[in-house]
Amino acid sequence: MPESAGKLYIVATPIGNLDDLSPRARQILDTVDAVLCEDTRHSGQMFARFGITTRRISFHEHNEEGRAASIVERLVAGESFALVSDAGTPLISDPGYRLLAAVRAADLPVSPVPGPCAAIAGLSVAGLPTDRFCFEGFLPPRAAARRKRLAALVSEPRTLVFYESGRRVADTLSDMIGAFGERRPATLARELTKAFESIYRGNLGDLGARSRADPDFSRGEIVLVVAGNDDAAMPQATAGLEQIVTLLVRELPASRAARIAAAITGCKRAEAYAIAAKLDRGESGGEGPV
Ligand code: SAM
Repeated sequence: MPESAGKLYIVATPIGNLDDLSPRARQILDTVDAVLCEDTRHSGQMFARFGITTRRISFHEHNEEGRAASIVERLVAGESFALVSDAGTPLISDPGYRLLAAVRAADLPVSPVPGPCAAIAGLSVAGLPTDRFCFEGFLPPRAAARRKRLAALVSEPRTLVFYESGRRVADTLSDMIGAFGERRPATLARELTKAFESIYRGNLGDLGARSRADPDFSRGEIVLVVAGNDDAAMPQATAGLEQIVTLLVRELPASRAARIAAAITGCKRAEAYAIAAKLDRGESGGEGPV
């Protein structure tokens, strides 16, 4: 690395509340030669608020590849840059990876200026295990690909963190219920740090029902945090329970079916009975008791 080389700073910016810009982030944005912005106009609002006048250069997923080589040349020549995205931490479901790969290949210095990240903010308030988690970012927009992705996550024991838009969240929740079962604990965190911040905790069934009933629920930016598959707990056992109760209730009264299903699966008898009674009343949505 040339001794005179400049540095690339990866600068996290607010995900809603501009007061979350750190003093160091502000100072770096003020003093680098130029700031690479996912959207120069969007970042311009933050710059105006803090009186930052540094030159902004457009840097987004469509020009990243082309721009990376010239940024590397300018770093070698001694210029310093900051990379920012529209919100949160660059490269986390945001552009920058190809630039970093080029900068790394050239052995040039990079330094993080950490700060807001929606995934971490959502996880921090979810009330679900945080000792191990797995960031899944955005699910595919098309239903078939989304369901395939979710099916691959059914046995994942770590807490799962997803990004989602309000527009798609009802469909996503419905597919998650299909894959993980409606009793899987989950938290939906929307508009974090903004005026209409709201955090809903429950299970996928609760969140799915709310997404259909409450129009506010599907507005704005969303982080969905879903409990991992705790082997000892329900997801697979629950799927098994429903299947077993469905079979037993065809042959036996609901209470006996529930008792046997609970003994087989280790689930609570009341839980098994609730399913059996529902099937008895013909509320299964599929074939009823024979
Ligand atoms: N790099 C960003 C970060 O570190 O948070 C994430 C960028 S990604 C393109 C945008 C997604 O992040 C949104 O669709 C939403 O899922 C999530 N997100 C961003 N801001 C949010 C907020 N204030 N509240 C909840 N989710 C948010």
